[in-house]
Amino acid sequence: MTSQRARARMIERLKEQGITDAQVLAAMSAVPRHIFVEEGIQHQAYDETPLPIGQGQTISSPYTVAISCQLACRGQRLERVLEVGGGCGYQAAILSRLAKEVVSVERITKLVGRARQSLRELRVNNVVVKNSDGSFGYPAGAPYDAIVVAAAMPYIPDEMKQQLKPGARLVAPVGAGDVQSLILVEALPEGGYSEKTLESVRFVPLLPGIS
Ligand code: SAH
Repeated sequence: MTSQRARARMIERLKEQGITDAQVLAAMSAVPRHIFVEEGIQHQAYDETPLPIGQGQTISSPYTVAISCQLACRGQRLERVLEVGGGCGYQAAILSRLAKEVVSVERITKLVGRARQSLRELRVNNVVVKNSDGSFGYPAGAPYDAIVVAAAMPYIPDEMKQQLKPGARLVAPVGAGDVQSLILVEALPEGGYSEKTLESVRFVPLLPGIS
């Protein structure tokens, strides 16, 4: 079940669910998802489900990762991307195939160590994992071609939007309960931002500070 065949089935399912970006599908087909989860649950790695990654956190389901990447990347090859909530590093590995450079910010030190190790194992060398609170983005690496937030935010702070290049997009789950709305923000080339509310999603909450 950890084989290329399980991954191929996941790709077919993602297509049926509306993932059309060839770059995203190719990235998800190339990156072994089972490497990022505990051995005991590796047989579930390609199912359409979130999975525990320790420290009370979860790796998002394949569809959630795919739709976030598809929306953020707009079918283009990007220079620099920010991920807030790096977790086990899986989504960062996907983004590493869609952008030249990825900055992934994670507040839990233990997860940072594991993510770095898994990314090293896969010889992904264009992702920098920072042990930092990404509630307001990561200004030191700005501006970004895309920002993908993987933890539920109460609102999207202006400081984070300001880290987008003109024309760039930010995708974030916004809401206080168990179910949130996926919000797509675009930095308009003429200035200002457009904002669209998309589908309902379930993410773990964004928390302050480093742990
Ligand atoms: N994209 C991840 C899934 C992340 S789950 C993956 O592929 O595995 C959400 C992650 O956001 C958790 O690991 C959690 O610790 C982290 N997180 C929560 N609040 C944060 C914050 N303020 N800054 C950085 N990371 C945060």
